[in-house]
Amino acid sequence: MLLIDSHCHLDFPEFDADREAVIAHSQALGVQKMLVVGTTRQHWQRLWNTVENTAGLYAAFGLHPYFLAEHQDDDIQALVEQLLCYQDHPKLCAVGEIGLDFLLEDLDREQQIDLFERQLNVATEFNLPVIIHSRRANAQVTSCLKVAKLPRAGIIHAFSGSYEEAIEYIKLGFLLGFGGAATWPGATRLQSVLQRLPIDSIVLETDSPDMPPHWLAGQRNSPEQLPRICQQLADIYGISSQEFAAQTTTNVQRLLGWQR
Ligand code: ZN
Repeated sequence: MLLIDSHCHLDFPEFDADREAVIAHSQALGVQKMLVVGTTRQHWQRLWNTVENTAGLYAAFGLHPYFLAEHQDDDIQALVEQLLCYQDHPKLCAVGEIGLDFLLEDLDREQQIDLFERQLNVATEFNLPVIIHSRRANAQVTSCLKVAKLPRAGIIHAFSGSYEEAIEYIKLGFLLGFGGAATWPGATRLQSVLQRLPIDSIVLETDSPDMPPHWLAGQRNSPEQLPRICQQLADIYGISSQEFAAQTTTNVQRLLGWQR
């Protein structure tokens, strides 16, 4: 079984003690590739150091809305320069993690929208897909995407909206990321949305070290969990885990332009 973790944060300090072992074990379990997604300008170099010399790891650079207070005015220019520096490198795959977080009330919404729109323009400029974080903000994210008309669309990471919101994203060419959150027994609404989606719109992710599956409650998540997450989501979806793995892997490869 070949799996791709389309969203993880292996550069985070939670993995400092055993990063190499986690990556090797994940790959031994079939998680051949992992996309490590950026959060702040300060940590792009840490991210690049994590992926640069490890086969199967790939990078996205972006400014995460959750860290709005840390972003500076010239970070967009820094993002452009960062992408210029790596644009021909095969490990650079996307702009992310970018988006809108309307769950946390102390994050100014207008500032978030401005930052998001500017990064969508950067993605267009570099012809890159985007990795999007959206919490309680699907209507606003969708309207920004309709204006931006991205050349390569992207992934709505940890999708948690309604079926109707999912269809809006799919119409815009987006894939929807599912991981640990959908494995929880109480996640019946999310599971019923998953069951109704076309298989060619679904991708797998862990968001490690965050969003653990139910069997790891309160603990560090890692890409090593992806095979079991895949099995559980395949059961919910009603197809074999082999088929679910193959389809979701093909979807990521198609978006990111990876060959098998
Ligand atoms: Zn993330």
